[in-house]
Amino acid sequence: MTPPRPATDDRAVLVLGPNPTPNGGMHLGHIAGPYLAGDVYARYQRARGRDVVFSTGTDDSQTFVTTTARRRGIDPEELCRASTAEIQEALSAIGISVDGFGPFDETYQATVLDYFRRLHAAGTFRRKTVRLPYLERTGEFLVEGLVEGDCPVCLTVCRGGLCETCNHPNNFDQLIDPHYTLDPAQKPGYREANILVLPLEEHRDRLTAYHEAWMPYWRPHLAQMIREVLDRPLPDVPITYPLDWGMPAPFPETPGQVLNAWLELIPAGMYTTSYAAGQRTGPQLPPAALWRVEENRRMVHFLGFDNAFFFCFPHLAMLMAHGDGYIRPEWIINNEFYELESEKFSTSKGNVVTCQEILREVPRDVVRLYLALTAPEHQRTTFSRAGLSKVAQDRLVGPWNRLAGALGKAVANAASGAAAWLPVSTAARGRAATMLDRFGVFYEMPSYSLNRAADTILVHIDRLANRAAALDGLDIDVESEAFGDLFLEVKALLAGAAPILIDLTAAVAADPGSEFDGDLTAGAFDTPAVKPFTPPLLSTGVPATQPAAGTSGAAAAAGGAVAPGR
Ligand SMILES: [Zn+2]
Repeated sequence: MTPPRPATDDRAVLVLGPNPTPNGGMHLGHIAGPYLAGDVYARYQRARGRDVVFSTGTDDSQTFVTTTARRRGIDPEELCRASTAEIQEALSAIGISVDGFGPFDETYQATVLDYFRRLHAAGTFRRKTVRLPYLERTGEFLVEGLVEGDCPVCLTVCRGGLCETCNHPNNFDQLIDPHYTLDPAQKPGYREANILVLPLEEHRDRLTAYHEAWMPYWRPHLAQMIREVLDRPLPDVPITYPLDWGMPAPFPETPGQVLNAWLELIPAGMYTTSYAAGQRTGPQLPPAALWRVEENRRMVHFLGFDNAFFFCFPHLAMLMAHGDGYIRPEWIINNEFYELESEKFSTSKGNVVTCQEILREVPRDVVRLYLALTAPEHQRTTFSRAGLSKVAQDRLVGPWNRLAGALGKAVANAASGAAAWLPVSTAARGRAATMLDRFGVFYEMPSYSLNRAADTILVHIDRLANRAAALDGLDIDVESEAFGDLFLEVKALLAGAAPILIDLTAAVAADPGSEFDGDLTAGAFDTPAVKPFTPPLLSTGVPATQPAAGTSGAAAAAGGAVAPGR
């Protein structure tokens, strides 16, 4: 298997964000992780003229739903309903361009059950007697989100199943000094249970071959985890658990048990991609239709490091165990944790900023740019109010408004009016092509980087603002080529910025005089003349402490991002 060259790979693309657990809304830490990364990637691929299906959906079966519902004293089904609505509202508010958000409905469940049944029939699972933490007082097995203890590999406090710090699995009775997650005083004993497991060791050769081919192209921390896991005996991963929350397991050997919620995510992805494609193009496709090998799509998963083990091992092993009928992920792009003012985001401790909260104060493009610039691609990074304000004023809104203001003034003062096309030099066409090539490096695999794409936008805003300042006071009709060159590069900048600054570039595209559509296909900026236009201005928004109603700044903020520059 040879990794293809994505820059010239025009195959259709499947982009999958991780399925959020509906045990609360979405905060900026979630967005700065896989969702913004997936969105920007999907937008870039669309601008390159490629067929893209970008989907996600909730994973209602997780035990984290149970623990949150108990903590809040509410019904888990009601928690799922309310949280799913909040999650969809947050994704929409911040502009995550999923083509469809697959509902946790009968088709979802039928797809998952069919996927597991076929593996069961093929003999992929083994029956195993295991020792599980068990709370005598409640008669409940404590696994997954219900149990907390010390990780046997790194000694950090973690939940059952997987350590989110080192990403090594812990199964059955491996957690050190376990306790009930909602009450550390409740220490479980152990009780035997007969469950089904996936013996990963039986899939070692195929997993190793796959990872040897792809791992060199992935982020170093992910590659480190994969090497560490491959260097140990591969674990037996629980397929079923004796729990009362989750999808009932359809196997005769395990009556009353449920499926391990983590392992639903691949069939869930098969379902959500078909659902999303149906939302976009009309009739609903059969589940997994877009995952067939003959579809030959490029599949890209964006996910947090904290659950990457599942994607890199049991998910792949189960997909491979289905035979060669399905495509496999070509790129698995992980992120690390994003913090809030250098502390962990925590809904229960009140250290949280939701999407909806920040968007009431700060225009969407400013938030997206800052999140992209500081996204935790390789290590923990932090959201900071002071940092957001500084970047917004000094690097984005300030320089952009100087640039837009200067161009708007030149257009307004033109004797010929704004309609005349301006000539463009060969050198400027070369610079526009160089800009787009560079954006392409950061929007495409294997060098995909929100940080560098966002920084590139800011670098060019500053560079072009300085160029505009040098032309200040000159007549656009006399210095037509100098202005033509500048307008061409501004349009190249906007095209490169479009996956991140979605409202600014939509406002320019909505101006029929701009002749701008964000097209990033080859040759889009190889043009001898360019149409001048009046670029919109940006707003930094209003601090939460100021009265929001009735001020022009608030109007600009509430409107999303941009105001007419005239
Ligand atoms: Zn650990």
